[in-house]
Amino acid sequence: MSGVEFSPRQNQTEQHVVHVLWMTSGLGCDGDTVAMTAATSPSLEDLLGRTIPGMPGVVIYNPLLAVEYGEEFMKAWYEAEAGNLDPFILVLEGAVPNEEINGDGHWSGFGVDPVSGQPITTNEWIDRLAPHAAIVMAVGTCATYGGVPAMKNNPTGAMGLRDYLGRTWTSRLGHPIVNLPGCPAQPDNITETLLYLVLQIAGTTQQIDLDEQGRPAWLFQRTAHEVCNRAGFADHGDYADHLGDDGRCLVKFGCKGPVVKCNVPARGWINGIGGCPNVGGICMACTMPGFPDKYLPLMDTGAKGKVVAAASRFAYGPLLKKLRNQTMKRRYEVEPVWRRPGAELTSGYARRW
Ligand code: SF4
Ligand code: SF4
Ligand code: SF4
Repeated sequence: MSGVEFSPRQNQTEQHVVHVLWMTSGLGCDGDTVAMTAATSPSLEDLLGRTIPGMPGVVIYNPLLAVEYGEEFMKAWYEAEAGNLDPFILVLEGAVPNEEINGDGHWSGFGVDPVSGQPITTNEWIDRLAPHAAIVMAVGTCATYGGVPAMKNNPTGAMGLRDYLGRTWTSRLGHPIVNLPGCPAQPDNITETLLYLVLQIAGTTQQIDLDEQGRPAWLFQRTAHEVCNRAGFADHGDYADHLGDDGRCLVKFGCKGPVVKCNVPARGWINGIGGCPNVGGICMACTMPGFPDKYLPLMDTGAKGKVVAAASRFAYGPLLKKLRNQTMKRRYEVEPVWRRPGAELTSGYARRW
């Protein structure tokens, strides 16, 4: 990404430990943490076990995964606030609420302030820790853009982390906020991005490339449609007419894949298996900044989709399919003449039997 320069620490790879403070207390469902446990490339165990050559140690503080609880769990957070846990990546899961409209209570938080005896809000933790963090990352669409909790008319004023900290906010090392959307984010996308960030901090790799939405560019450069294993059917105007269809394009059921940046159909969900439209579920656009409001109703083709489907179905789609089939049959489904099965060998090969 052009603009802000990141200054990684140099030559600290071997002994270095990078801490990951993972807040699940945004307005969300903890689904991204659960998703991360399914990662295989790299797996969570690969990260924590330091099994990748050249990587520093990684310690993840996540309330859903931690064995510790209560004040024991909170120690690391106070240490980070005091500047004694360095370097660390601050991860937010869930949307940021607007605590200025919380009435007499609070929308979300964790830990108790020892002085006031009141819960410490998520917003206050972001305010306390973001200035100390080497890198800040938003995981899941709630944290990146607001997602479901930020739907129109929600009472919490929910927003994404970039809306809260500011679009141009950078960490003390000059790093922009990393956005990893998805509801939840794809498991390997999470661990792979974390690994890159850890290596960056250790000074063993360059700053990752982020697109204009703050997403790791290489993960979000294609549409779901471009990498869907049903795309060939769409090409031929071959559309599923019932749910459970075993392979044809799902656009008539409202699949949003053609206008959604997402690598899930290519990467699968767990260990390369699955991936929304690949396995019969429409793409609901869960990675997109406009999700969900701009894609409602989710299971509706929409006027444009109908036009595209009709044009493809009744015009070039079937023609394209016919021409390809003819070409395949006449030209490519035939062995070259010198090794075509027949009474006589034409290759000049001397028979020995
Ligand atoms: Fe849950 Fe989806 Fe929000 Fe993640 S993005 S916290 S999975 S609702
Ligand atoms: Fe595109 Fe969706 Fe059809 Fe796949 S199922 S080819 S993503 S429209
Ligand atoms: Fe979300 Fe669509 Fe990607 Fe599935 S394919 S993860 S619904 S954006």
